[in-house]
Amino acid sequence: MRPAVFLDRDGVLNEDLGYIHRIEDFRLFAGTGRALRRLHEAGYLLFLVTNQSGIGRGYFTLEAMDRVHRFLESELRRHGVRLSRIYFAPEAPDQPSRGRKPSPRFLLDARDEFGVDLSQSYMIGDKLADLECGWNAGVRRSLLVRTGYGAQVERDAPDKLGRAVVVDDLPSAVAWILDQAPGGPDAGTAGGMEGGRREDCR
Ligand SMILES: [Mg+2]
Repeated sequence: MRPAVFLDRDGVLNEDLGYIHRIEDFRLFAGTGRALRRLHEAGYLLFLVTNQSGIGRGYFTLEAMDRVHRFLESELRRHGVRLSRIYFAPEAPDQPSRGRKPSPRFLLDARDEFGVDLSQSYMIGDKLADLECGWNAGVRRSLLVRTGYGAQVERDAPDKLGRAVVVDDLPSAVAWILDQAPGGPDAGTAGGMEGGRREDCR
């Protein structure tokens, strides 16, 4: 069993310009490659978990998304980083979907396919659906970054953040994760959203 970090894409790894489907619009945040490299070196499997409703809405094609993801993977390779799998939900919000966040489905798939120990794993996102996806799957902690929509979520829905760890950006999220002792006193998901403890790592 191995630990993993599940990553939302837009607003976490790259600027969220809205329904990104062209390489020209795909801008990785500074430090993304280096941060993910640190997780890789610490033994974490890395998964992308992304809702891409722009496909279901007819805004862009699956092929366009694939091109963006191949570009992302080539950028990450330059930092020695490999994503074990890219999970995406192409459906619009009103369409039935197997894995659209906050569904934990893709995290459970990763557990089954890659032997991921969810209780030692983390979810990093910039929206409530990302945090909930992690909680629904029973990850150790969900982390909210203030990039993308994160700062807005922190301001508008502080009562919904539960045990989420709130940090400035992806490099800060990675630093927080690597600071945790494996299986330490913070481990487990008992209480989930009810835990009420929120850590501000600014
Ligand atoms: Mg996002």
